[in-house]
Amino acid sequence: MLAAIGPLQPTSMPAPLLSLVIPMRNEAECIAGLCDRLEAIIADLDEPCEVICVNDGSTDATLTLLLERQKTMSCLRIIDLSRNFGKEAALTAGLEAARGACVVPLDADLQDPPELVGAMLEKWREGFEVVNAARSERRTDTAMKRLTAALFYYVTNKITDIEIPKNVGDFRLMDRKVVDAICALPERTRFNKGLFAWVGFRQTTLTYVRPPRAAGETKWKYWRLWNFALDGITSFSSIPLRIWSYVGAAAASLSMIYAVAVVLRTLIFGIDVPGYASLIVTVMFFNGLTMLSLGAIGEYLSRIFIETKQRPIYIVRALHEPSGEDPAALASGEEAAP
Ligand code: UDP
Ligand code: MG
Repeated sequence: MLAAIGPLQPTSMPAPLLSLVIPMRNEAECIAGLCDRLEAIIADLDEPCEVICVNDGSTDATLTLLLERQKTMSCLRIIDLSRNFGKEAALTAGLEAARGACVVPLDADLQDPPELVGAMLEKWREGFEVVNAARSERRTDTAMKRLTAALFYYVTNKITDIEIPKNVGDFRLMDRKVVDAICALPERTRFNKGLFAWVGFRQTTLTYVRPPRAAGETKWKYWRLWNFALDGITSFSSIPLRIWSYVGAAAASLSMIYAVAVVLRTLIFGIDVPGYASLIVTVMFFNGLTMLSLGAIGEYLSRIFIETKQRPIYIVRALHEPSGEDPAALASGEEAAP
């Protein structure tokens, strides 16, 4: 298994049909409502299910509340990461621990309505290996977020080889084959949306109306979204690097033409001293281009640097299983849950 530190795969429990994977960062306000809804859905499905909550370095009562809930919720497994590794890493931890025949990642804030899971399972039984859930509209987002999201999908789908389905987040059902393929990918920069699209498989899409956050506030500020978009583009396309060869060729050709014009003009009309303005503009313009291209190289270089260090994607502090065999619970002397 990839880069996991800690016991992620206990052998004693039978594999369930469905794993629900939920990364959580400071979601204490959402846990009660989320678990109630999940328990209702699981009871309706009447199939063996597991819920994997990944505590991504929360600083509030998320872990305490989860451990409390686990005493009565026998399908709840908790992965406690050693710090905040980010949603993509937390989701990767959950996917690697999931044992279900199919896996559905969910947001903790109930923006991905778990009620859709039944319809997803039906599609899966029809033979689809990935069932995407696309939001039918983005009314709950701000105009700015809608615009930047549209721009992001346009740019990535134009300059990368993969087709990222529009308005589909991480909420989707994936067959075991798909999850195994994703977990086998060795990269450390996990742009999951891209990886999910990259692995392919037979896909279909359901639509749903995305409700606003149930409680708490979004953890994705614009700077973070921008870096996320950069990760996406640099993980799947080398065009931002290659484009500079063409920009350079175009600039060199134009400069040649201009050079010939300047030489001819000097020969015909003599030396023309004024020229400070054109000189400074040209110097600044080409310096700007050089820095931009260096910046693009830097973006890729920094990612190569991160990849070559081969650090794990996340570190697990403890895995809390609902059974009495939980090493973490035993070590801390807690009563094992029934
Ligand atoms: N999340 C996480 N680690 C982080 C940031 C977010 O595990 O560093 C989780 C968060 O708890 C939630 C999900 O990722 O379950 C989506 O986050 P959020 O709802 O804030 O994003 P939005 O829906 O606004 O895009
Ligand atoms: Mg959300």
